[in-house]
Amino acid sequence: MIDNASIESLKNSIDIVDVIGSFIELRKAGANYKANCPFHGEKTPSFVVSPSKQIYHCFGCGVGGDSIKFVMELEKLSYPEAIEKLASMNNFSLNYTKGSSDYSDAKRVLEAVGQWYVKNLNHNETAMKYLLDRGISQNSIETFEIGYVPSGPEVMQFLQSALLPLPLAAEAGIIAQSENGNGYYARLVERITFPIYSTNASLVGFGGRTITNHPAKYINSPQTKLFNKSRLLYGYHLAKESIYKNKKIIICEGYLDVVMFHQAGFKEAVAGMGTALTTEHLPLLRKGDPKVILAYDGDKAGVGAALKAAQMLSVAGFDGGVVLFPDGQDPADLIAKGQSETVAKLLREAKPLTPFVLEMIVSMYNLKDPHAKEAAFGAVKQYLDALSPIIKDSYIPTAATLLGLSPSFFGKETRPDRARDSFTQKRGDSAHLQIIKTLIENPNLIDNVLNVMDVTMFESYAPLVSALITGENENPGLIRLSLDDSLDILTEEKLNKELCALLLKQYNLKLKTIANSQQIPFEKKRFLLWKIRKDIIPKLKKGELVAYDPIL
Ligand code: ZN
Repeated sequence: MIDNASIESLKNSIDIVDVIGSFIELRKAGANYKANCPFHGEKTPSFVVSPSKQIYHCFGCGVGGDSIKFVMELEKLSYPEAIEKLASMNNFSLNYTKGSSDYSDAKRVLEAVGQWYVKNLNHNETAMKYLLDRGISQNSIETFEIGYVPSGPEVMQFLQSALLPLPLAAEAGIIAQSENGNGYYARLVERITFPIYSTNASLVGFGGRTITNHPAKYINSPQTKLFNKSRLLYGYHLAKESIYKNKKIIICEGYLDVVMFHQAGFKEAVAGMGTALTTEHLPLLRKGDPKVILAYDGDKAGVGAALKAAQMLSVAGFDGGVVLFPDGQDPADLIAKGQSETVAKLLREAKPLTPFVLEMIVSMYNLKDPHAKEAAFGAVKQYLDALSPIIKDSYIPTAATLLGLSPSFFGKETRPDRARDSFTQKRGDSAHLQIIKTLIENPNLIDNVLNVMDVTMFESYAPLVSALITGENENPGLIRLSLDDSLDILTEEKLNKELCALLLKQYNLKLKTIANSQQIPFEKKRFLLWKIRKDIIPKLKKGELVAYDPIL
């Protein structure tokens, strides 16, 4: 079992914005962050994350809670599993009560195996020669901890001699159980190894490149509880600082490209884990707000991958560009040949994402054929419609020129749902809500309100005010209000003004009730009406608070 004290210190060391932001895309909205809710389908963001309160809440479907709850619900994990996941994501060591195995044991296996891989490289001439032939420096080999994994039996022998339990090595993805169930085999054999780190520089797996002409050029560790391929980028932990500093991230295709880019001084380079870039990578790419440069091979596969990625990134609102390396030369080759300057120039001249996508789409059609031209127009329009209205508008002339059409074909329809964040909360009496929100943030003002108002005067919001007074912090209505950025928190002065206005409204109603009443004796009626008209209302109009007297 995980030690309670270490759960507490984990909780204190994580930030909900980082946690949720590593799963879904968060956008800053005032003091909070917003996103499309991952728990229910929606097009306008009603999912709010509050850094000050360390909670999330969805105004659409009502889910909410803290970081741990979020990970449990999203990843369908139990409480301890969610804790382990969070610990691993944050490179945090949990303490366990005696006798239990845990994820940090699997991590220990990975680290021991990684060191052994590195040692092996020095003894393997073929592997070393391959790396040096590719132009990789000794310094890069060390920085990226490149290693070599020998034959399967040697792996098993190492694990046994190092006293690393096989089930743990299997959990770490180093070995796998053989199909007949008795015994294990090594997953990576006779390959150059590249350790894969999480964004927080925690070792999570390995990539392996064959040097024995194995049909699979690259193989990665399997998905484990430490390693989620679809969200990570190779080299990110080494690139992070430059990405934040230079507001740029270079995405290339292979691990060796990343190594060579870094070697040539382009330290913002990363690569996918042998998979295409998907929307799951967006939260990581968004960090540090960099421009995204896609640096892909100019071959057919590279161009196809670049188009898909450029399309996804531009639709997601990213700024950036595309570089396709010419004549089948990959960036690693160019750098190895000492042509870093050429690479730098190509990167500087990257084609912006949207024009690149537009050109690529149009190039797929024969515009001399009117029907093909019509189809091209349809494809281009569909892409443009997915962009934000302003970006779309800016690129209509480019699209029209490429197609040889008048810009008027693209119309002027904008999509207000994307142009503005529409918050779907139904606005009742906003004065009441604003006052309650103010009291949530400044509980010391509660007396100001209760001195002059009665809880029932909040009408349908009266239960909320009661909850506030009794300190029910978990009340969903209160949480909802505290996260609603469309309501301002009032200063004491403004609060008093609002109270005066509410009281005025209340007394005006009272005047009518009294005037129409059959029960109140004439003399009393006259006195009450005089008192309200001549004494109370003028005071309230001057901004002087008068306690509401229900007996009046
Ligand atoms: Zn929701």
